[in-house]
Amino acid sequence: MIDVKKIRDDFPILKRKINGNQLIYFDNAATSQTPQVVIDKISNYYSNYNSNIHRGVHMLSQEATESYEKSRRIIQNQFNAKSSNEIIFTSGTTHGINIVASGYSNFLKKGDEIILSEMEHHSNIVPWQMLCEKTGAIIRIAKMDENGVLILDYFKSICSNKTKLVLVSHVSNALGTINPIESIISIAHSNNAVVLIDGAQAAPHIKIDLQKLDVDFYVVSGHKLMGPTGIGVLYGKESLLDMLPPYQGGGEMIEEVTFSKTTYAKLPHKFEAGTPNISGGIALGTAISYLNEIGFDSISKYEKSLLDYSTFKLLEIDGLKIYGESNQKTAVISFNIESIHPYDLGTILDKLGIAVRTGHHCAQPIMDHFNIPGTIRASFSFYNTKEEIDIMVEAIKRAKLMLA
Ligand SMILES: *Cc1c(COP(=O)(O)O)cnc(C)c1O
Repeated sequence: MIDVKKIRDDFPILKRKINGNQLIYFDNAATSQTPQVVIDKISNYYSNYNSNIHRGVHMLSQEATESYEKSRRIIQNQFNAKSSNEIIFTSGTTHGINIVASGYSNFLKKGDEIILSEMEHHSNIVPWQMLCEKTGAIIRIAKMDENGVLILDYFKSICSNKTKLVLVSHVSNALGTINPIESIISIAHSNNAVVLIDGAQAAPHIKIDLQKLDVDFYVVSGHKLMGPTGIGVLYGKESLLDMLPPYQGGGEMIEEVTFSKTTYAKLPHKFEAGTPNISGGIALGTAISYLNEIGFDSISKYEKSLLDYSTFKLLEIDGLKIYGESNQKTAVISFNIESIHPYDLGTILDKLGIAVRTGHHCAQPIMDHFNIPGTIRASFSFYNTKEEIDIMVEAIKRAKLMLA
């Protein structure tokens, strides 16, 4: 069970007032808020052992290295990766996808195919378009239906022995749809295709077991997982990461450098060139431990109750339409109100201290699918409450009168 009152005390920002109103933060799908333990971890790093990792013999460097590598193991355990070598620190989901997309330019050729779903974030579209431009491979789109649900039979029909890569989000950031990635992975593997799952929206809400999923690559962002910005994780099966060329050259990623030849460091360092976001990496481990203390079962259950409640309350509003009506959703609601521009409504909600997101949510193909310019998106976390939802619903009703 979630003790929401106690949990809210962990997040100092939730005490903030906006235009004299108590902040109501419903933009968790863009960035989650940061608990005090994570803030303290960052501050403690800079106050007590700030130094470069893997290099110095001195005490500070040893402490920083130990904390950084401990965090890698926390992440490995959290996602049940076989080895900590498979956990690559990145700057976020976008960076992780680019490492893989750039590496595969060495392995794809003209006539090869890759499959993207129609509901991908731009981060999981553009790097693959760049890959296809370089290699002559072509993109095929796995379509979704009117409820924002991936059409599995259609996916099956376009997956063939030409398919080299399958790139699908675990959860859609704009619709909240949870995709059947177990089936997608198994269909892809039966065609010998490699699968990358964009887990940015799933990892904060669902317990992930990478070995059980048998997924090839999985990427997440720290700032959606109660961690800091500028840190994320690329998971890859060790054999695949070994095969991929490094993404950047520099310090830390080498074994030996001479002007005639450089040999690369072993995993995971091969992909971690330069001085990384050390405090971010350390604090991400703390964020994940914090989530685990609350427990993913409790988080899922509680957030589902917020989703059900807000869906019910919002649908009472005349002319309101929800986009994304899968029965497998995280707590994300995308909606529009007849004849009101999402931006106008978002602006009024902001004046009242309610933070929602308006626009295409970096997923323009979804908006094209529904033939709309954008939506208003409210995305909830376990520190949100039904009272906050009530306040938003009342605010929308008032805004609707003002804008009509
Ligand atoms: C946020 C998000 C991304 C991009 O993450 P960054 O942290 O901005 O790199 C990619 N995919 C999905 C589904 C997201 O929600």
